[in-house]
Amino acid sequence: MQFKDIIGQSQLKQNLTASVREGHVPHAQMFLGCLGYGGLPLALAYAQYLNCANPQPDDSCGECPSCMKMNKLAHPDLHFSFPFPSVEKRKISTESITEWREVLQVSPYLSLHRWMVKFNAENKQPNIPITECHDVMRRLSFKAYESGYKIMVIWLPEYLGKEGNTLLKILEEPPANTVFLLVAENLETVLNTIISRTQIIKISPIDQQELADALVERQQMQPDEAYRIAGLANGDYIESLDLLNHSAAEHAGLFEQWMNVLLSNKAEPMGMVKFADVFGALGRESQKNFILYSLHMLKEVLHLQVFGKPSSVLTGSEKSVVSDMAGKFNQSKMQRMSDWLNEAHYHVERNASGKMMMLDLSVRIGKLVKPAAAMV
Ligand SMILES: [Zn+2]
Repeated sequence: MQFKDIIGQSQLKQNLTASVREGHVPHAQMFLGCLGYGGLPLALAYAQYLNCANPQPDDSCGECPSCMKMNKLAHPDLHFSFPFPSVEKRKISTESITEWREVLQVSPYLSLHRWMVKFNAENKQPNIPITECHDVMRRLSFKAYESGYKIMVIWLPEYLGKEGNTLLKILEEPPANTVFLLVAENLETVLNTIISRTQIIKISPIDQQELADALVERQQMQPDEAYRIAGLANGDYIESLDLLNHSAAEHAGLFEQWMNVLLSNKAEPMGMVKFADVFGALGRESQKNFILYSLHMLKEVLHLQVFGKPSSVLTGSEKSVVSDMAGKFNQSKMQRMSDWLNEAHYHVERNASGKMMMLDLSVRIGKLVKPAAAMV
């Protein structure tokens, strides 16, 4: 993980790299702020910078052997400690290191929810047990494998119960060249004894424009919609993705409903009118997003027809809608639908009546499905 891959936080990045260049590396630091502000990515980028063989003024090189291993989260001197479900038979974090690397490779903006889902344990209580505390000390008792720092990242020390007190001595006086990086969200639930032994680095919400830019780049959102979501998410990237997935789920249900009307064997003028009413009642942004979602689904249909499978991860019901459509529309019909949807997006943006636009669109697509109806 390099600093350049972290959304926003430029001032903090500068402070962190400057302190390393000046030789000021506190042995226990706590990155504090909502997880979606980027505490864990920052800790990872900082760890990589600390051990980079060829550090640049503002970032690690990304290419030296140390950076390569750090990137894969497989550097022998990079250690992790994190909560896992208390029902698990596992006793120490390293038993779950494969799962840990997998979720972080997908995105280091990890929420506790996404982590617990990995264990199918979203309703279970997470915990960092005493066995893990002992293992942290055991791992740090060995000499560093390589020449740089030995780094222990403790994710969510909130889940250290009073057993966490076994770590106080090592937090206060760690072995030489050992650095603790704690990533916490809520100071009130971290043991006071631990707080008092760390230097706290407060992480602020991500700037709205920078968060919006990241959503445009990483989630292919439209700039205005991205800006709106970034505002709703209060500078929290994880929250913005939740908002996004939530609206995607709504659109998926609506799209399925629409296709049921259009692809059913009976002529469905009443169904079309009803659907146009539903669509017309959505807010303008939602109408636009629904159209974008529909275009995305058309792309998936095309991908299925050409390559035999969709290009992205689809839910079960999305898959069945896509394969249904693939059987009913050939590529030239798909192209026409896609043109119409693009036009519809244009018109909605310019305040056309959503309801009339949708009714017209449904009738046209209905005729594509049943060419005979075009004679009426
Ligand atoms: Zn490097």
